[in-house]
Amino acid sequence: MTEEDPILDALVIGAGPAGLTAATYLSRFKRRIAVVDAGNSRARWIPTSHNCPGFPSGVTGDALLDKLREQARAYGTEIVGDRVSGLERDGDAFHAVGEQGGRWAARYVLLATGIVDCVPKMARLEQAIENGAIRLCAVCDGYEACDERIAVYAPVDEAIRHALFLRTFSREVLAVRSEAGEPSAECARLAHDARVAVLPVPESIDYLAGEGCRMRFADGDERTFDTVYPVLGGNAQSGLAIGLGAEVDDNEELVVDEHLQTSVDGLYAIGDIVSALNQISVAVGHAAVAATAVHNRLPRNFREDKASQPEDA
Ligand SMILES: Cc1cc2nc3c(=O)[nH]c(=O)nc-3n(C[C@H](O)[C@H](O)[C@H](O)COP(=O)(O)OP(=O)(O)OC[C@H]3O[C@@H](n4cnc5c(N)ncnc54)[C@H](O)[C@@H]3O)c2cc1C
Repeated sequence: MTEEDPILDALVIGAGPAGLTAATYLSRFKRRIAVVDAGNSRARWIPTSHNCPGFPSGVTGDALLDKLREQARAYGTEIVGDRVSGLERDGDAFHAVGEQGGRWAARYVLLATGIVDCVPKMARLEQAIENGAIRLCAVCDGYEACDERIAVYAPVDEAIRHALFLRTFSREVLAVRSEAGEPSAECARLAHDARVAVLPVPESIDYLAGEGCRMRFADGDERTFDTVYPVLGGNAQSGLAIGLGAEVDDNEELVVDEHLQTSVDGLYAIGDIVSALNQISVAVGHAAVAATAVHNRLPRNFREDKASQPEDA
């Protein structure tokens, strides 16, 4: 921030695929922005994504994030490592404070803080994800689980619905309860018709290196699956927006208009934090729309006459 104008054009909170893409767009629109990131993108969990546009051989989450950071930085974006802990509105500007003591003021805020997955309690979860024994997103990688022995681990109706989605990819998909409960009549019928067996709550889930996951049940039954999809929900990182009065859905994900603006004027939300499909291509699409909307709302930043331009502008 300069002394002459301490208020940034925009503050981007979160530097996953959504925030980094928005930063690239806004920097290319020659806007003064800051990006603040707590460094915990969901994308870093992706062993290899095969549905990310432009990567026919797949791309790891870390490699994608590296590329997106490199692209944003190439246009002058600075990414500050901090967690924004407070966000307030005062007149025409938003004021943010970070846990490390950072302070930012901006006309517009793009919230790209994502969600944090709820995961089952089990040892070596990270290795299990790395090896595809635990998968967290059927839309992302159901294709990679083709013809595998698949379990969906979730509250029973949720487990059945996800199992139906996964039946596109495998004949052997089971629904495993994450908590006690009986399926609704409709879900029980759907499971029966799709030949999806419904199992009780397992006593343990263990990652077997290179061989999937084993579930042990109270009656002594043991099952081994090539892959387990836990569907336990996620914690939307929407607290900053809720604090400003923004509307959220039942999952506390933000409700937005067609330009990705929340119900709070000037506060935009992009990526997984929005009530929409959680995908990289959706996140970058959100970012493009929101960043362009913000640029068009800001005062015009016409190119100066040549004589008054600094040489490197
Ligand atoms: C195992 C796995 C596999 C996946 N595979 C695929 C796939 O193949 N294809 C696909 O399209 N999608 C996939 N996804 C989903 C994809 O990762 C997400 O859709 C994507 O990362 C969303 O991007 P985002 O920028 O909205 O959020 P994120 O990538 O989660 O980034 C949010 C960022 O905001 C930061 N943040 C949060 N709160 C604050 C705060 N208060 N202050 C500052 N920073 C904050 C976080 O630390 C994080 O860095 C997968 C997800 C997982 C978990």
